Amino acid sequence: MIDRRPGLIARCAGLADVVAAVRFSRSHELLVSVRGGGHNAPGVAVCEGGLMIDLAGMRGVRVDPAQRTARAEAGATWSDFDRETQAFGLATTGGAISNTGIGGPTLGGGLGWLAGKYGLVCDNLLSVDLVTADGTVLVTSATENSDLFWGLRGGGGNFGVVTSFEYQLHPVGPVLAGPVLYPFAKAKEGLALYRDFAASIPDEVNTMGALLTSPDGNPVAAIAVCYNGSHEAGEKVLREIRAFGPPLADEIAPKPYCKIQTLFDEAFIRGRRYYFKSNFTRQISDEAIDTLVEHFRAAPSPMSMVYFQQLGKAANRVGATATAFSHRDALCEWGCDAVWLDPGADGVNIRWARELAKAMRPFTTGSDYVNHIGLETEEGAARIKAAYGANYERLVALKNKYDPTNLFRHNQNIKPTA
Ligand SMILES: Cc1cc2nc3c(=O)[nH]c(=O)nc-3n(C[C@H](O)[C@H](O)[C@H](O)COP(=O)(O)OP(=O)(O)OC[C@H]3O[C@@H](n4cnc5c(N)ncnc54)[C@H](O)[C@@H]3O)c2cc1C
Repeated sequence: MIDRRPGLIARCAGLADVVAAVRFSRSHELLVSVRGGGHNAPGVAVCEGGLMIDLAGMRGVRVDPAQRTARAEAGATWSDFDRETQAFGLATTGGAISNTGIGGPTLGGGLGWLAGKYGLVCDNLLSVDLVTADGTVLVTSATENSDLFWGLRGGGGNFGVVTSFEYQLHPVGPVLAGPVLYPFAKAKEGLALYRDFAASIPDEVNTMGALLTSPDGNPVAAIAVCYNGSHEAGEKVLREIRAFGPPLADEIAPKPYCKIQTLFDEAFIRGRRYYFKSNFTRQISDEAIDTLVEHFRAAPSPMSMVYFQQLGKAANRVGATATAFSHRDALCEWGCDAVWLDPGADGVNIRWARELAKAMRPFTTGSDYVNHIGLETEEGAARIKAAYGANYERLVALKNKYDPTNLFRHNQNIKPTA
């Protein structure tokens, strides 16, 4: 789907390579893009004709079990990160697909299974090593270059190339987790149950609700949960969603945290065609549910899904201006993931996603998640600005300070005014 070809790819092995690549691109006035895990669906990591700074060779993760922290190189995926941290029985909030990079989610906010208890990925960030647009190396944390540290927690890839991230870890797992599937005939009641359940849960649990096609080819409604706490208490909290229906399948069971982190991997294998639309929502109305169910019925591809991914209770408690990620009052992100195989079917699938997004817009905050919105050429400047919410002007001031010539513009771009 991403038909762009960089003129040059700098396959960096470490921070010094990144410094050299940034300086080279400046002196030759090249368009720059940055690749972390390479998972961004609109493909912002890939520029046409310029220099792609590729961090995929930098995947080391070092855990300090005594301090419960981990330092990870910026090309690591959640699979790399979770594997190393779980070796010590530790984890932090991470994206829900294991081959997503840690870079995009951390810099854009980062929704994940553990966010009910520990907040977003960016809420667990302790420090960052970064190469700025003029090739300077900076360490940023709550006490060092703290203005930039604020901007890196939700402001995306606008301020430089991060070469490593340091995170706070927590004891995690095994978790009581998995999906429950309901017949499509009960889709509306199932999503209404999801809404009420998501609003009432304790911090230990985080949720997703979805309409999708099961492996046997039937459309179903699903609620997936991850309970990170005592399994006895979790059994009581989750009883309500397991009793409804009755379910077609109930796969909630104790499992290693790394297992729940791969729950949806097979629905998003590389090489298929993907087109995503999403928005934050504060509540889920009956009309929104009706809209989703009717449009899902008409999905041109059985691989497509619509979903709600909950922000998480601890993520909701952080103030809207405490980090650059501002959408703290959202209950969840809703999204439609159009997925198909035949390039000849691009038009019909993209149209389906766009029409559904348009129909859902009145039920949302109108703000996109930075990590899912595309380039300005498709989305328009107003939508990009709205993705940064109330923090946009403060982010512009940071952009003026750290990237006044807008070297890092091949992203969800915050434009400098200086
Ligand atoms: C199937 C699927 C599931 C997803 N699930 C979740 C989820 O559960 N939670 C969630 O929060 N998001 C989720 N996302 C969205 C995800 O956060 C974005 O796709 C994100 O951009 C991926 O990060 P990446 O590093 O792999 O991407 P890349 O494509 O490598 O990078 C995207 C952009 O991020 C910036 N960037 C990345 N790394 C760096 C760095 N080190 N320094 C500077 N800039 C950098 C750059 O602008 C870069 O172009 C999902 C996406 C997909 C496709």
